[in-house]
Amino acid sequence: MPVELLGKSTGELREYFASLGERPFRAAQLYHALYAERRFEFSAMTNMPAALRERLASAEGGRISPPHIVRRFPSMDGSIRYLFSIGGESAKPAQIEAVFMPREGRQTICISTQAGCAVDCHFCLTAQLGLIRNLTAGEIVGQVLVALEENREQLAPQTNVVLMGQGEPLLNYDATMTAVRILLDPKGVALAPRHVTLSTSGIVPGIERLGQEKIRPSLAISLNASSDEQRNTLMPINRKYPLEVLLDACRKYPLRSREYFTFEYVLLGGVNDTPEDARRVVRLLARLRAKVNLIPWNPGNLPYQPPTPQSIEEFQRILVDKGVPTFVRYSRGQDVFAACGQLALMETPSPFVALQ
Ligand code: SF4
Repeated sequence: MPVELLGKSTGELREYFASLGERPFRAAQLYHALYAERRFEFSAMTNMPAALRERLASAEGGRISPPHIVRRFPSMDGSIRYLFSIGGESAKPAQIEAVFMPREGRQTICISTQAGCAVDCHFCLTAQLGLIRNLTAGEIVGQVLVALEENREQLAPQTNVVLMGQGEPLLNYDATMTAVRILLDPKGVALAPRHVTLSTSGIVPGIERLGQEKIRPSLAISLNASSDEQRNTLMPINRKYPLEVLLDACRKYPLRSREYFTFEYVLLGGVNDTPEDARRVVRLLARLRAKVNLIPWNPGNLPYQPPTPQSIEEFQRILVDKGVPTFVRYSRGQDVFAACGQLALMETPSPFVALQ
């Protein structure tokens, strides 16, 4: 049975080549071809001799299975939403999503770490899928590689990756961190740590573990509420890790110099968007080096209302006046099912033109 090589570290590739009786330095060559050059066919890995490439491609060798693009949904704003299929022969088949968002001088790629999610945030469509399964490191890093390769003609110099698609990354810790190490490795995908952001719903043991990592991404926390009562309703995970426990873990987290927490706050009209909410958020974040992203809710399939422009402005003003850097972010690709889980939930054919 061929061994899946996508997602393997240099050490794992060294063991793999040793099992074939090949020299250890081949591991670095394959690693470079996979992650730095984004070669998914052995025949294209011209940094290795032809005989070895043939051996790797044979039945006793290895295989490279990047996520398969089922559909592309190009948005009016230039972003492209991908519906990928993963799994098959050796793993449970599933569909996941990623989004490629080009901007002046950079692209941001939002990727999934699980198929579906068990966390059950009430404003999230992925929650309705439940957890289908954890992704492997190869399936996680593969989304970035495929999105970059797909858009190679128009790539800007800087790439940002956000782990904010389907799933809770800290509940698939090992595979997520293996993928992140490859993304941040100067010999791998070579992204800067400040350009890779892991977003969590607030899994405290995972935050504590991440703080011990030598190589780690930036951390974003999905806050979305100004009190335990409100957060218990919107994000039931808050009953397990209430605000005080979560913020205490943040206070103990070993931020590096010039590193900030990002707190994401989805503004739901009439639910969590009042001036009193803003003042409570200021108090919650008082002893933290933090910035806040306000994300106005988009009308969709869930029973929430968007905030008014006045409430967005007022909320931001209260935070900024108290010294909390606060930005309003509008989710991109709104015309192509921007909320995570939306594509995978669709059972009917899309009204949008899919470029296959
Ligand atoms: S918002 Fe994130 S953590 Fe919450 S249910 Fe959706 S995918 Fe899971």
